[in-house]
Amino acid sequence: MPRVLVVNTGSSSIKYQLFEMPEGSGDREPKVLAGGVVERIGEAGSKLTHRPAGAEPLVVEERVADHSEGFDRVFRAFETAGEPIGELAGIGHRVVHGGERLTEPTRIDDAAIAAIADQAPLAPLHNPPNLLGIRIAMASFPGTPQVAVFDTAFHQTMPPRAWRYALPAELAAELRIRRYGFHGTSHAYVSRKAAEHLGRPAAELNLVTLHLGNGASAAAVAGGRCIDTTMGLTPLEGLVMGTRSGDLDPAVVFYLHREAGLSVDDIDDLLNKRSGMLGLAGANDMREIARLVAEGDQAAAEAMDVYCYRIRKYVGAYAAALGRLDALVFTAGIGENNDTVRAGVCQGLEGLGVTLDARRNKGRSGRPRTISADASKVAVLVVPTNEELEIAEQTLAVVGA
Ligand code: ADP
Repeated sequence: MPRVLVVNTGSSSIKYQLFEMPEGSGDREPKVLAGGVVERIGEAGSKLTHRPAGAEPLVVEERVADHSEGFDRVFRAFETAGEPIGELAGIGHRVVHGGERLTEPTRIDDAAIAAIADQAPLAPLHNPPNLLGIRIAMASFPGTPQVAVFDTAFHQTMPPRAWRYALPAELAAELRIRRYGFHGTSHAYVSRKAAEHLGRPAAELNLVTLHLGNGASAAAVAGGRCIDTTMGLTPLEGLVMGTRSGDLDPAVVFYLHREAGLSVDDIDDLLNKRSGMLGLAGANDMREIARLVAEGDQAAAEAMDVYCYRIRKYVGAYAAALGRLDALVFTAGIGENNDTVRAGVCQGLEGLGVTLDARRNKGRSGRPRTISADASKVAVLVVPTNEELEIAEQTLAVVGA
């Protein structure tokens, strides 16, 4: 059965998963053979954690100087754990920004590399390390097809009314300033899974998908195609996140500069790394915030209210954009695990036809499930996301194995 290695190379980390994919259209499920992460590359305290399926994790705490060394460690860990990578049908790379040109999973060649490099100014923290991972993997597996899967791709079906900012048109075009959207691989995966779970063709369904992790975004999906999403030129726009502010009056930026003397870099850092739930409540992890709320912490309770309200507002906006809403889909760390957030988002949406079932909402499962009441006009679902599997499937589709 074909094997696909999925790689997500960050500025100081490499995450990976090796899949064995089913052949043909049987009932067989894809299997994860191993996965893992190299963290803090180039820093003190580098660490590799390799998790072979059904065996104890292998942890190596040794300085990893750079990404090449990181990949070497990963390849070696497969050998040490007794499950070598073996023959690969393809390697799938997560690439954050595909811009306007890279709208489909793309077989990597010189032209694709140049096109990914061309998007780097739009994602300076992400595309360069993504490319580095691609180059190292190509050198290590010269005969293996490599595929790039873009976080922005799913959102490229948005109509201009959703992706345009009301800026001077020429300037926006020249600098490619527009809304792109991110988390596309996750929104695509959960919208497909939601349709499967509901037993209806994706083409017939209007969904709002809510990817709520450290980063968070919502998407309006009509007939399987994205028509709007909350993130914009960068992942800063939209929902309140762990450390990002989400929507702001842009004049806050000038005000911070003029009144507090902050530089552009200071403000970038403030809005991306010190705002959101961290700024409001002093903690960015929702489990910690839940603990604070339980202890009666007012700031944490208010932060939760702001968090849920922002999402609810977008659900209303997207119900209007879609014209008819069939299902609301929660996913990612918070969406899958935090019933308080799900209840907080759905509260007051009865007018839109959303009625949560409190007992179903509290239940847990690793599989897609319905948490709305039987009488709810809009189905509310929890669908676990799996971006790695989506990348593996798209990779296989491109290499035609
Ligand atoms: P990332 O965007 O880094 O992939 P995740 O999707 O893992 O993030 O989401 C991280 C968030 O999910 C954190 O705020 C964390 O508190 C929350 N989360 C993860 N697991 C649980 C859980 N079992 N219960 C409640 N919250 C959880």
